[in-house]
Amino acid sequence: MAKKNITHGLWEATALSKPLLTAIKGDQKTDVAIIGGGYTGLSAALHLSKMGKESIVLEAEDIGFGGAGRNVGLVNAGLWLMPEELLRLAGPEYGEKLIDVLGDSPDLVFELIDEHKIECEALRNGTLHCADSKSGYKALQQREEQWLKRGAPVQLLGRDEAALQTGSNSFYGALLDKRAGTLQPLSYAYGLANAALKAGAQLYGKSPVIRYEKNKDGWKLITPTGTLKAKSVIIAVHAYPGYAYTSNKKSMVWMNFFQFATPPLSKEVLKTVLPGRQGAWDTNLILSSYRLDAAGRLIVGSVGTVEGFAYDLHENWVKRTIAKTFPQVGEQPLEYGWYGTFAMTTNHIPRFHVMDKNMAMITSYNGRGIGPGTVFGKLLAEYITKGSPENIPLPISKMNPIWSRPFWGLFYETGARLYHFLQRRI
Ligand SMILES: Cc1cc2nc3c(=O)[nH]c(=O)nc-3n(C[C@H](O)[C@H](O)[C@H](O)COP(=O)(O)OP(=O)(O)OC[C@H]3O[C@@H](n4cnc5c(N)ncnc54)[C@H](O)[C@@H]3O)c2cc1C
Repeated sequence: MAKKNITHGLWEATALSKPLLTAIKGDQKTDVAIIGGGYTGLSAALHLSKMGKESIVLEAEDIGFGGAGRNVGLVNAGLWLMPEELLRLAGPEYGEKLIDVLGDSPDLVFELIDEHKIECEALRNGTLHCADSKSGYKALQQREEQWLKRGAPVQLLGRDEAALQTGSNSFYGALLDKRAGTLQPLSYAYGLANAALKAGAQLYGKSPVIRYEKNKDGWKLITPTGTLKAKSVIIAVHAYPGYAYTSNKKSMVWMNFFQFATPPLSKEVLKTVLPGRQGAWDTNLILSSYRLDAAGRLIVGSVGTVEGFAYDLHENWVKRTIAKTFPQVGEQPLEYGWYGTFAMTTNHIPRFHVMDKNMAMITSYNGRGIGPGTVFGKLLAEYITKGSPENIPLPISKMNPIWSRPFWGLFYETGARLYHFLQRRI
């Protein structure tokens, strides 16, 4: 069972309310065409409908095929970068806006879940960023100080409290961020899609945009089964650009991340493993994630793919990690193993591109896309409707190729394999 679905794994097996979509047929027209059915595209469609604009989403495969159906499900507040580092890199104007907009992004996610009654195992119990070294703990102290200055509800836990909250003695401490939470990522994407459909947007699956042409009224998007004319286009293909948008690939650094899930743990064991049901991850460069799903499965993730022989290598590492980090779990089979790819930038800040009049994208969320994708989808909908970028907390930038990207991708992939091959053997 474990090796059958290495792309969407547990999330596909347990997702609720999948929207049944057909491929686009014939020649169609709309106000705004949206390419990509992940959080960004679906949130844009939903918010366009709320603003009274027609939109059509063209998804190459199925809703949530990209990162939206594969991720860890941590609804984080803010970026990886600490606020002061973000200010230094983005400058005061955009830095402050980004800190505010992304710091509050879980609010929009959980509001939409409530408003549209999206069944996606949503829990807003906070997340735990766990220090796996003394230097990791120091970094968490800085993080706490910088967020507290901005009034964010974060709390640094010492070693004993972190052990109680995680159920593990492996950590030097942990930062509890009460703004954040967890969800079933594919169910959330399905829920956004259903909400967008209900609000009046049209969605097509199996409709890859393979080419596009500019004409006097806007754009014509060509798919193998039909065409779509639109005044404006939002590109929301993120780390899964295919078909018409391979150029975006050259401007991002890719990183793969896998997860493995145990069967549901017993009630007794669940009293001591992440008993508050927070999602957790650590401060390591090759970071690991730990969370439970609603059924009580322990899900452990880290950097790398599970293609080919890497499956066994990472699966064995997960088994050793569970044995050392959560020994109370005991030996468990791993029922699901899957992975996905996310898009990074060299400065860890997302990018806003306006390719041509009425064609825009925001991309490269650096592994944090649930809150950012939902918020940026909304902001792109506003931008396309009003024609002004003032609400977008990012400067318009060029899509410059990153020449070192093959090196970085390979560095993370081989580094993770080597690390997981060696770590926790004794
Ligand atoms: C393994 C993993 C773990 C992660 N963990 C977290 C986490 O815990 N928390 C968090 O916040 N974020 C996490 N992320 C990041 C998050 O999943 C992404 O940032 C988010 O999914 C981006 O959303 P999106 O809508 O922009 O793109 P995607 O969800 O990737 O969707 C893009 C869609 O575009 C479609 N597409 C591509 N080309 C075309 C075309 N030519 N025509 C039509 N459709 C096309 C693709 O099929 C795809 O469905 C993780 C990502 C991965 C992969």
